[in-house]
Amino acid sequence: MFCYHCQEAKKNKACDTTGICGKKAPLSSLHDLLVYTLKGLSFYAVKAQDSTIDLTRCNQFSARALYATVTNVNFDSAEFVGLITESVQRRNALAKQLPALESVPEEALWQYDTIDEKAFIKKGESVGVPSLANDNEGYHGLRESLVYAVKGLASITHHALMLGKEASKFYTFIHHALNFSLNQHSIDEALALNLECGKLGVEAMALLNQANIKRFGEPVPTQVHTDVWNKAGILISGSSLQDIQAVLEQTADTGIDVYTHGEALIAHAYPAFKRFFNLAGHYGGAWQDQKNQFAKFNGALLITSNSLQQAKKTYIEKLFTTGMVGWDAIPHIADQKSNPAKNFTPLIEQAKQNSAPTLLTEHTLPTGYSLQSLNALMDEIISALQSESISRIIVIAGCDGRHKERRYYTELVEKLPKNCLILTCGETKYRFNHLELGDINGIPRLLDVGQSNDFSVILQFLENLQQRLGLNDLNVLPVSFNIAWYEQQTIIMFLSLLALGIKNVRLGPTLPPFFNEEVLNILTEKFALKGISTVEDDIEAMLEGE
Ligand code: SF4
Repeated sequence: MFCYHCQEAKKNKACDTTGICGKKAPLSSLHDLLVYTLKGLSFYAVKAQDSTIDLTRCNQFSARALYATVTNVNFDSAEFVGLITESVQRRNALAKQLPALESVPEEALWQYDTIDEKAFIKKGESVGVPSLANDNEGYHGLRESLVYAVKGLASITHHALMLGKEASKFYTFIHHALNFSLNQHSIDEALALNLECGKLGVEAMALLNQANIKRFGEPVPTQVHTDVWNKAGILISGSSLQDIQAVLEQTADTGIDVYTHGEALIAHAYPAFKRFFNLAGHYGGAWQDQKNQFAKFNGALLITSNSLQQAKKTYIEKLFTTGMVGWDAIPHIADQKSNPAKNFTPLIEQAKQNSAPTLLTEHTLPTGYSLQSLNALMDEIISALQSESISRIIVIAGCDGRHKERRYYTELVEKLPKNCLILTCGETKYRFNHLELGDINGIPRLLDVGQSNDFSVILQFLENLQQRLGLNDLNVLPVSFNIAWYEQQTIIMFLSLLALGIKNVRLGPTLPPFFNEEVLNILTEKFALKGISTVEDDIEAMLEGE
């Protein structure tokens, strides 16, 4: 086993026996084999792109399958056996429609004898990252970075598709990048493709953001309560708003309260959810707190899009998954083939058997600063910048995680000068969104735009601010970016900043292990990339624009 595609890779090198996330070696091999076969599928998809062959199903499948390999999404071996089988079948069907090719990579040729999990695992053991270890070091790191970023792009693309939105350019790029990874290329080419992935990733985020707004309305600034009511409840974690809506609709007259966890906080800010009286509040904090907080919730639990951890005995019998999330032995609420609304009856029935949640905290959490809300503050923010009431805007965005070094983000916010405005999204905000941060001339110091997927809102607002100030470069804005990465969507965030030419981005709490020495040298030289240092040193440097 060799996996180093998230921030919790063992010793910041690689998980080599069992993943810190709970992924075991056999499952890791299945993930590797799936990506291997998807590269083969993309090889043919690129060849078919200028033909009349309809790639719709193949495109949507590739995005869904890549998404399944994102950290903490799916741990169900049977799911991967099915995806590998489908990937090979789709690849073979596509190959048959194309003229015979002279040179075909092994990824596009491999066939299984029978659909057999053990045989798939054995094959997977031979096609992971170590099998590619003879590459040029810099290219090796950038190729892996590209594949992980493509997983992030694929997951966002799939989420948008679930809301009825898609764009062919995302699928075209996914195939192009996977096909690119089959061969050796120059470092410059690999870096350019990484940046392109960042740019497209933010465009996919914007598409998803628009799809959410179209379905659920424009979010409005909202203070979300974290206390609890005295009735049994359902706790929903993950970013799928349509699943929250379906659960709310199906529990409306049942007397069951619904609470959000992790990335689901933003649901409280969407108009479509405000009409549900049983949307009771937000319970707990970020995804990695689930092992402690799920048992205390007492009720039924649903994980919708990602962030699943190995469940503890104290709550496993109350836990359900849906969407691409899965773990064998945990009941899964499947899509309905003939009716788009999922049937959450098993979850609701489970909730009825339980007692009310145990109180964890009694404060409110701010969220819901959509682009419209931020633009409404534009004049006040410009005025505060011009009068130096705001000295700097600090963007602290990304994921949370288990490492104790993530305490840095709490201390950073606690120690930032009071004239710094903070823009955030994603779960890293749970490190500081409970703090009393006050306001600057009536502008709340902490502006949370929502999920990691909503990072495009921050960039769009900053580009609007740049234009209003008549500046020709985002680097001239008094803004510092401090990105807390964990998994593959945060790699997109980081790459999108580089694609915009933004310098001095801080990436923490550790630098990605696939950014080897040669890659780090390149990124440092071209973009002044920084890891995090002490809070004091980083604040001083950020205030100096470094
Ligand atoms: Fe380790 Fe992260 Fe890979 Fe899981 S996803 S095996 S924690 S590197």
